[in-house]
Amino acid sequence: MQVYSPPLRDMRFVLHELHGSDVLRTLEGLEEVTPDLIDAVLDEAGKLVTEVLAPLNQSADQEGCTYENGVVRTPKGFKEAYKTFIEGGWNGIACDPQYGGQGLPASVNKLVEEMLCSGNLAFGICPGLTHGAYEALKAYASDDLKNRFLPKMVEGVWSGAMCLTEPQCGTDLGLVRTRAVPQADGSYKITGNKIFISAGEQDLTENIIHLVLARLPDAPSGIKGISLFLVPKFLPKDDGALGPRNGVLCTGIEHKMGIHGSSTCQMSFEEATGWLVGEPNRGMRAMFAMMNSERLSVGTQGLGLGEAAYQAAVAYARERLQGRALTGAKHPDKPADPIIVHPDVRRMLMTMRAYNEGCRALGGWVARALDLMEHASDPQTRRQAEDFTSLMTPIVKALFTDLGFASASMGMQVYGGHGYIRDHGMEQYVRDARIAMIYEGTNGVQALDLVGRKLPAHMGRYLRSFFHPVLAYIDAKMDDANLSPLIAPLGKAFGALQLATAHIAEKGLRDPDEAGAAATEYLRLFGLVALGYMWVRMADVAYEKRAGAGDDAAFYEAKIATARFYMDKLLPEVAALWGAIKAGKAATMGLDETLF
Ligand SMILES: Cc1cc2nc3c(=O)[nH]c(=O)nc-3n(C[C@H](O)[C@H](O)[C@H](O)COP(=O)(O)OP(=O)(O)OC[C@H]3O[C@@H](n4cnc5c(N)ncnc54)[C@H](O)[C@@H]3O)c2cc1C
Repeated sequence: MQVYSPPLRDMRFVLHELHGSDVLRTLEGLEEVTPDLIDAVLDEAGKLVTEVLAPLNQSADQEGCTYENGVVRTPKGFKEAYKTFIEGGWNGIACDPQYGGQGLPASVNKLVEEMLCSGNLAFGICPGLTHGAYEALKAYASDDLKNRFLPKMVEGVWSGAMCLTEPQCGTDLGLVRTRAVPQADGSYKITGNKIFISAGEQDLTENIIHLVLARLPDAPSGIKGISLFLVPKFLPKDDGALGPRNGVLCTGIEHKMGIHGSSTCQMSFEEATGWLVGEPNRGMRAMFAMMNSERLSVGTQGLGLGEAAYQAAVAYARERLQGRALTGAKHPDKPADPIIVHPDVRRMLMTMRAYNEGCRALGGWVARALDLMEHASDPQTRRQAEDFTSLMTPIVKALFTDLGFASASMGMQVYGGHGYIRDHGMEQYVRDARIAMIYEGTNGVQALDLVGRKLPAHMGRYLRSFFHPVLAYIDAKMDDANLSPLIAPLGKAFGALQLATAHIAEKGLRDPDEAGAAATEYLRLFGLVALGYMWVRMADVAYEKRAGAGDDAAFYEAKIATARFYMDKLLPEVAALWGAIKAGKAATMGLDETLF
């Protein structure tokens, strides 16, 4: 049995105490977002997840989606759960009230998303894609398209899907072959085959709005000749009611390792009617609005599964009796001690905990930047927030999913053989977590985005949005008696990040393979330093609050203990990464291709 319980105390810590939720109310459009309102939303989301969605997680995994004659059926209980989900208004909590959304900040929405991912990742994928499609349409579609499609998508009666991948075209979207032919009425006829389309067909919503990458007849080859189209499964009539079926057909679904409750569809577009979103041949710009939103959400998937695996592992480690503590029996009345006494089991539990809480804090910082981007009145603040979000998106996507998978795997290790068999649900977390490192741009491609685009952007301007606050914080807290044992390793790791950044900038300029060979190590190094910064700041708050915290003092003590663990046991990986980066490309690229 999976045992997930929403980590509401930690979520409130991140939102209110670490990043300060009061700031949200100073932003235009968020004046009503009081701490009480936020807490009530989180409580209700927690109930929805534990009472409605999490109970379906294992049965949906075992049953999977089924396909018959173009129709996809989701697992038992999903339809009813989806109805409850949209009737509760959850689909549009972070959407603009202009389209029927509730206008809640991303800072809150990301935490709700995390709970969904922990409780039932496969269920959360469809609403997640709808939200991504909403973002792209809101930013780039004509007012007419927005008014016709967004209200139903925000309500959740219509969903969104993202149609990029084709058999010959995965990472390299310049290879898209799907064609779009202009029609006299301003629409387009779309023809082509897409594969691996999540929720491309399902039985949860009345209509499915596909955002499709395709080429116009006169388009230049490669990535510069791609346009984005909105292609609905059913063509809506003028009054918004569903009209005739469009030329969009699901021709099959994939059988895959995990997320069995989410359909992964082969889609055929046969002269399907669609409308252009954004400008011709500039579809990637518009698609990136969806992809960036999805990348952050996929990072949250890693965190959500890491948290679920951690909670299950802790519960198991408390009750599983094996062996005696190395220092003598801790529970002599029992036939053996619970495995939580063993240092190696502790190592795994502490690692998972430190990763999860660190990622939640870092994710909260990025979500705050999303809110500032959207709601701050000062253009300078908006621009800085955008710089920071651009820089951190590949890190959140790749680091959180790498760590989420590592946590799921460690969770299985804590269970021993009982984690490998199906009954406890641990092996599902491992299977479900694996895809997040692949889709939405593989983690290797995220690392290339970081070193190739984000580091050099505007002569290092994006980088400064992270470097400056960290440096200022280290300077300010250097002599703080409580924090100095944590600040010293952070300062050292931050120094390695600065050196690695300069090294890659210099070497990569002369030889792109140098940057490419170091990219994954660099992203991890950067991410570990960012988590380190979060951990010192969390300890800072905890030291300040623990005196006089009464019953809550234990929460702050645990924060401080976990911060120490992170700085002493996990952050030192930075030194090894910097060593590997310094070694350059020779070791990686030296072996002739024919010798593999
Ligand atoms: C379950 C599932 C759901 C999905 N959902 C969707 C969806 O909803 N919509 C959609 O459009 N797609 C979807 N995808 C597709 C997914 O985004 C792609 O699988 C992914 O982007 C990688 O493409 P690929 O599989 O063709 O691998 P490839 O691009 O062939 O890559 C193979 C390997 O080569 C590496 N590689 C490729 N190019 C480079 C490069 N330039 N530099 C360095 N390394 C490189 C990759 O990192 C990877 O390790 C889904 C896939 C799955 C399995």
